[in-house]
Amino acid sequence: MRKLASIQKIKSLSDIPEADNIQKATVLGWELVVKKNEFEVGDFCVYCEIDSVMPDDNPAFEFLRNKNFRIKTIRLRGQVSQGICLPVSILPQEIEIVEDKEVTEILGITKYDPPMPASLAGEMEGYFPTFIPKTDETRVQVLQELLDKYVGQIFYVTEKLDGTSVTYFIQDGEFGVCSRNYQIKESNTNTFWQVAHTLGIEQKLRALGGNWALQGELVGENIQKNKYKLKGQQVFLFNIFNSDKFDYLDFEDFLAMAKKLEMKTVPILETDYVLENNIRDLVEKSIGDSVLIKNVKREGIVLRPLQEKTERTYGRVSFKAINPEFLLKYD
Ligand code: ATP
Ligand code: MN
Repeated sequence: MRKLASIQKIKSLSDIPEADNIQKATVLGWELVVKKNEFEVGDFCVYCEIDSVMPDDNPAFEFLRNKNFRIKTIRLRGQVSQGICLPVSILPQEIEIVEDKEVTEILGITKYDPPMPASLAGEMEGYFPTFIPKTDETRVQVLQELLDKYVGQIFYVTEKLDGTSVTYFIQDGEFGVCSRNYQIKESNTNTFWQVAHTLGIEQKLRALGGNWALQGELVGENIQKNKYKLKGQQVFLFNIFNSDKFDYLDFEDFLAMAKKLEMKTVPILETDYVLENNIRDLVEKSIGDSVLIKNVKREGIVLRPLQEKTERTYGRVSFKAINPEFLLKYD
């Protein structure tokens, strides 16, 4: 789970050209604008990530009312700013100041989640099955320790598409369709099911034998404003999961299996990327256009080792860098 608000140290401060009252601060791997003289390097602060929704009954956040109290990516004097730093005095007195301590709930902060249109939401069959991991990607800005460990290893890079997550599974003879958090009842009006029927996904999964899950991004009409201007909807796979082994296919096997199933994968940008240990450069790398359509900014990139890896404290080694220009434009 993402820590939206936590106690962190100001890692560095630097001036912004032609700006007298503000400075650029680095906290974790995030860069943001702070008021000059409010913090010094090494100070503790409460850092709130983008997508934090601040409580509407605290005078300290009144300045965010016209933004619906939501923290977004902004640009100030040419500097991209992601998140906000608050003085630790915002915390109740009894809270001990310990680096990395999560204070999201203490401050009454919730997460912004875009609403899901009715054509996708469907009727709930049940919760997301426990025999398949949910889809998720951690932001590179909080992964310095992982980069320290994996620097120099070969990763592949895919384009992160801005649609909605779908999981199709076959488990002990049952075919199921899931959105990000729920299994959805079969229906002819639900987009996830319509696509399953059109692509014959149930038959494809049955033909494999055993228990499997296909996970991908559904994009197209009526989804996230259809930035890629597609006709109808399409699924682009990013995971093939063997539920019998509780294991994802490694990259090569994933590609081969997608081909066999005659299904698209998310766009593959690089297959021999040597991981660099620099969050700033990775965010820079995420900037670019989608390969699906001309002149549309991509949402970002997802990076994974060619051979699947799991870390005890972290889980699957796979993470995202979100294109700040995409956030400035669409978010
Ligand atoms: P956050 O955790 O940052 O608050 P979030 O949980 O809503 O945000 P997203 O930013 O949507 O997650 O990122 C994770 C999702 O990205 C996955 O669940 C998946 O649906 C989607 N996705 C799109 N393209 C890819 C890709 N190429 N590889 C992996 N996942 C992808
Ligand atoms: Mn997430």
